Amino acid sequence: MNDLLRVARDAFGYEALRPGQEEAMRAVLAGRDVLAVMPTGAGKSAVYQVPALLLDGPVVVVSPLIALQRDQVDGLTDDCAGGDCAGGDLGAVMLNSAMSAAAWRQAREDLRAGSARFVFLAPEQLAREEVVDELAALGPRLLVVDEAHCVSSWGHDFRPLYLQLGSARARLGNPPVVALTATASPQVRAEVIARLHLQDPLVLVEGFDRPEIDLRVVHCADADVQRAGVLDAVAVAGGSALVYVATRAAAEEIAGQIPGADFYHAGRRRADRDDVQRRFVDGDLDVVVATTAFGMGIDKPDVRAVVHATVPDSPDSYYQEVGRAARDGSPAVATLFYRPEDLGLRTFFSSAVAKVGPLQETAAAVRAHAGPVEPGDLRRELGVTASRLAGAVNLLTEVGALTEDGRGRLLVPPGAPKPAPAAEAAVAVSERQRGVERSRLEMMRALCETAACRRQFLLGYFGEQLDAGCGNCDTCRAGTAREHEAGDEPFAVGSSVEHGDWGAGQVMHYEDDRVTVLFEGVGYRTLALDLVRRDELLHALDVAG
Ligand code: ADP
Ligand code: ZN
Repeated sequence: MNDLLRVARDAFGYEALRPGQEEAMRAVLAGRDVLAVMPTGAGKSAVYQVPALLLDGPVVVVSPLIALQRDQVDGLTDDCAGGDCAGGDLGAVMLNSAMSAAAWRQAREDLRAGSARFVFLAPEQLAREEVVDELAALGPRLLVVDEAHCVSSWGHDFRPLYLQLGSARARLGNPPVVALTATASPQVRAEVIARLHLQDPLVLVEGFDRPEIDLRVVHCADADVQRAGVLDAVAVAGGSALVYVATRAAAEEIAGQIPGADFYHAGRRRADRDDVQRRFVDGDLDVVVATTAFGMGIDKPDVRAVVHATVPDSPDSYYQEVGRAARDGSPAVATLFYRPEDLGLRTFFSSAVAKVGPLQETAAAVRAHAGPVEPGDLRRELGVTASRLAGAVNLLTEVGALTEDGRGRLLVPPGAPKPAPAAEAAVAVSERQRGVERSRLEMMRALCETAACRRQFLLGYFGEQLDAGCGNCDTCRAGTAREHEAGDEPFAVGSSVEHGDWGAGQVMHYEDDRVTVLFEGVGYRTLALDLVRRDELLHALDVAG
């Protein structure tokens, strides 16, 4: 038995390693940077915890919330690590602002003495020079970034302090980095790699396939056909159903047409929303018609149908919503009622590019303060809403015009650009994001219009390779989903390429005579393969270089 399996069994009580875990662990042992993308519950922690016991030095784990850190420390120091009391205390401490001076002293001693192997901290601790110096002196063997999507402004959870982790790594003596996240979007992945300065990382995406969900896209000639289809799909659901719509008005209208259905959107009173959610989870309400606001944190095992009354804004939203079906592993059906006209509406309602004026004012307002300023004070000063301020702050942080101290207050870092150029640069970032948003919508169009296996397309989008058609989607059943002939593509799916005008990107998908590439700067572009070959439009990019 190899070392990893032995540690997994003896210290954690795992009989075997799950798909992907061992490959990632080997890379960690070999000192290679790793980005592991796995759904919640798939076992991301083991990816660093098992090899950590084979490394001779401490492991620094950055995690955004003290509660998450505490869970991990408890898991590692419990006498029952792994669940069957195989492990005992593996030595883990936290360092955070909620701890007493005495607790800090004890944690430091444990680390110096080597009785603690894991140290968990929030990114603001790595923004403190004295903490970094102390950790650097211990010679950390590995830097783990948990919830790594927090470094991405695309994630739902952007934390400006995560932007500083790339440089913190250097100051810790450049240990290998393991980045962990459950967010499968390719944009987030690209940003994690760039912002944490991962070098030639092993990128591992595992466990997103939900083979029990039958994926269907129905092309509708007009809005009446589309609506009738939605009502039919709900009528035959044979259990709980979720219907996703684009607008609040549509949620109310469609719910009114389905006996016993209720609706959910962000404009509804809190008490009513909670009531809808509770009745749905308890089984007292079979059908909820909702905007994307519904579903976060809802764990209902027996949803049998997810119906999209119109095209979602991205494959990311689509798959997240579809994934609320069949948590119990029994079959479910996901049906999307597609009209190309709906894509235009989605574009029309998508977010606007940020404006120079408000960005410049925000940057100048922070600069006018002698020290760090509370976001709440800034909001009152500028007379803007919290979400508007957050949008401006995120953009200004990205271009280095603002930063956060460890307590969520804003300040201007040394060497920051002046408000005017900072605002210009921030607008450029916002335009780029808008471009990527549009290209995600284009990928949604491609998914709806593909003749190939829908699941192959979707999993490919998320970076997971499905070698053959799934057999449980409409195109597979229709027989149009020919397998893509392996071997004739010029670049492997997932490999990095470069284009003269569009810069670096990642090969996402082949279909017929076309290849789709996700470019970091401009989003998705689909290219004709014969032109790619003839004019050498793409070149393989050596990421390690
Ligand atoms: P994630 O962080 O991906 O949400 P965790 O790391 O918390 O998931 O792991 C989820 C559960 O799976 C934990 O109880 C963990 O002990 C268990 N687990 C992880 N890897 C294995 C394995 N190879 N065999 C059995 N159980 C495992
Ligand atoms: Zn299929």
